[in-house]
Amino acid sequence: MKAIIVHGGAGKVHTKEEIPPRIETCKKAALSGFEILKKGETSIDAAVEAVKIFEDNPLFNAGKGSYLTEKGEVEMDAGIMNGNTLKIGAVSGIKHVKNPIELARAVMEKSKHNFLIGEGAEEFALKNNLPLVPNEYFITERTKKLFADKIHDTVGAVALDEKGVISVAVSTGGTPMKMSGRVGDSPLVGSGFYANERFGAVATGIGEDIMRAVLTFRIALYLEKGINTAIKEAIAYLTKINGKAGVIALDKNGNIAFEYNTEMMFYAFMKDGMSDPEGGI
Ligand code: ASP
Repeated sequence: MKAIIVHGGAGKVHTKEEIPPRIETCKKAALSGFEILKKGETSIDAAVEAVKIFEDNPLFNAGKGSYLTEKGEVEMDAGIMNGNTLKIGAVSGIKHVKNPIELARAVMEKSKHNFLIGEGAEEFALKNNLPLVPNEYFITERTKKLFADKIHDTVGAVALDEKGVISVAVSTGGTPMKMSGRVGDSPLVGSGFYANERFGAVATGIGEDIMRAVLTFRIALYLEKGINTAIKEAIAYLTKINGKAGVIALDKNGNIAFEYNTEMMFYAFMKDGMSDPEGGI
C-alpha cells in the first residue's frame, strides 16, 4: 500500500481568496509525492519532494515565504524521520539554505548526529553542495505585512512506501515575530514529527503548545484504538492543556487521519485506489 498526506499549516481562517491556491498546492504536493511512491522510490524521497514544493512556494511559512523574527529576518527549522530505521535529521536557526528539508535529510543520512543548528548546520550544507541563498530570498511582501498574524503555515508530509516504510518531513519559518534564537516544535522529534514501524505523524500550530503535549509521540500512547481515534485523543489532550494545533498521520496499513483544534488546517492526501488527490481545510 502506498499513501501520502501533506499539510500546509493550521491556524485561523484565511480570506476567501487565500484558500483555493493553498489547497491546490497541497494537492500538487500530495500528487508529486505519490508519483514518486508509484515509481517505487522511498517514502523519504516522497516526503522530501512534497515538502520542497511548499518550501519553494511563497504562500507557505517554510523556505521562501517564511515568517520573520522580531529582527525582521528569517530563521527556519526542519525535521525528518524514517519510521523503519528510526533515524532522525533536524536543523534549526537556518538563514540561508534554500531548502531546509534537504539539509535535515543530509543530517540524517550523511552526518553522525541527529540535530544541527545555525552556523554549523549551514557549514554542513555547504559541504554537501546544498544551494545557499541570501536571507532576503525568503522574505516576501506578504511576510513583511504579516508580522503579527496568527496563521501558522508550516508544512509537512507523511508517506508510506511499497515496502511498508513510513517517513515524515516537516519544515517551517516558525511563528511570526518570534524571538531570534527561538526553536519551535518542528525540528523536535516527538513534538513536531514522529514515525515508527506502525505510524507517522507531523504537527502544525503553536510550537510551544505542541512541545508541552509531546504531541506526535503522544499518538503512540493511544494507537491500539486505531490511528483516527489516537490522533483525536492526542488533540483532545492538547485542548485540555489549552494548546492549539493540527496533526496529519497515517498508519502502516495506509489509513489516513488528520485532526485539528485550530479554525482550519490545509491538507491533501492520496493513496492507492484514488485517481486524484483529495484536499481541503
Ligand atoms: N509549529 C510551528 C512552530 O511553532 C509553526 C507552524 O506550525 O506554523 O514553529
